Amino acid sequence: MAFLSATLERLGASPTVAMSNRAAALKAEGRDLIALAAGEPDFDTPAHIRAAAIEAMERGETRYTAVDGTPALKAAIAAKFERDNDLAYGADEITVGAGGKHVIWNALLATLGPGDEAIVPAPYWVSYPDMVRFTGATPVIVPAGPEQRFLLTADALAGAITDRTKWLILNSPSNPTGAGYRADDLAALAEVLRRHPEVHVLADDIYEHIAFPGFEFATMAEVAPDLKARVLTVNGVSKAYAMTGWRIGFACGPAPLIAAIRKLQSQSTTNPSSISQAAAAAALTGPQDYLAEARAAFLRRRDVVVAALNGMPGVTCDTPVGAFYVYPSVAGLIGRRSAGGRALDSDEAVAEALLEEAGVAVVFGAAFGLSPHIRISYAAADDELAKAMARIAEFAEGCR
Ligand code: GLU
Repeated sequence: MAFLSATLERLGASPTVAMSNRAAALKAEGRDLIALAAGEPDFDTPAHIRAAAIEAMERGETRYTAVDGTPALKAAIAAKFERDNDLAYGADEITVGAGGKHVIWNALLATLGPGDEAIVPAPYWVSYPDMVRFTGATPVIVPAGPEQRFLLTADALAGAITDRTKWLILNSPSNPTGAGYRADDLAALAEVLRRHPEVHVLADDIYEHIAFPGFEFATMAEVAPDLKARVLTVNGVSKAYAMTGWRIGFACGPAPLIAAIRKLQSQSTTNPSSISQAAAAAALTGPQDYLAEARAAFLRRRDVVVAALNGMPGVTCDTPVGAFYVYPSVAGLIGRRSAGGRALDSDEAVAEALLEEAGVAVVFGAAFGLSPHIRISYAAADDELAKAMARIAEFAEGCR
């Protein structure tokens, strides 16, 4: 009798987490490695947010809180949705979990089961299909490649919906491509969704604040208020305020779904860290200057990285409108051999060769459902990025 459960077999380990951990371990061993695998800002959490956490500890806010968030944090989240997205939600329509990932996990587990389907445009963040599969439901992967700006079209959505579809999962700006849905792109999808009242939308907006000039962030519940009762809008402080380790994500949506998530969370993690919640409230209510500073740094880095990649043989790279990833095609390297003698027969082989021969850690495209690409996170110091680009260029030039 196998000890591990059959349910667990539906889940693969996260490739982004695996690559980030592997890069960290190699660096700790003293390897000369530039890690561009982890999807997290390289900045410190702003000082006033750290101070708020210390004050919360000193005040004795070290006990359990309400399962799905303190009243203070929920009020800060409600104000955030009003301010940024023109969305009004009450406390019973807001949930807080241990990161956006946890909130998405809860929402899918609370709603999906065998026979159900969730539409996931590809390339996708690695965890969506696995999370869907874990519930026993089926992820319906819909291609959304560079020829369509990495965005799901209304026709493709219409073609993917069946009477089993429960969710459409959207992520904008996107991990791994940095593509983003404009208000009119969302309006076209909403038009299709109006014909299918049973389909809900999970809008993963975690990169909302990393949106570059020329792209105006929009989200489904705001663009199509008539669909609000079937939209779950997920966000968090991790990427916006450089708070990945604090583990605070949140969402707003219909009260019955929020109540279901609360029930699930009450039997698993209970509340997210009380101290992190105080810090998150300070992030959302305090000065917002950090957002523009981080955005400017990411924009500068994006331009350096995109230009460098497009100058390399065998590599082409679209210009993202947000987030801090690029998703270049490495089609021109496939079928070749690296200077170190590796056969580059897949994007996984390219990523492996980059790690071993160039000392740069990236994540292979197959993990995100669209090959042959690699994902590069440019949330790294400027000099590290410049060095990494020089190494990747030398690698590409050395391929035969
Ligand atoms: N979302 C980040 C990434 O894609 C963090 C790791 C993860 O949870 O996938 O790298």
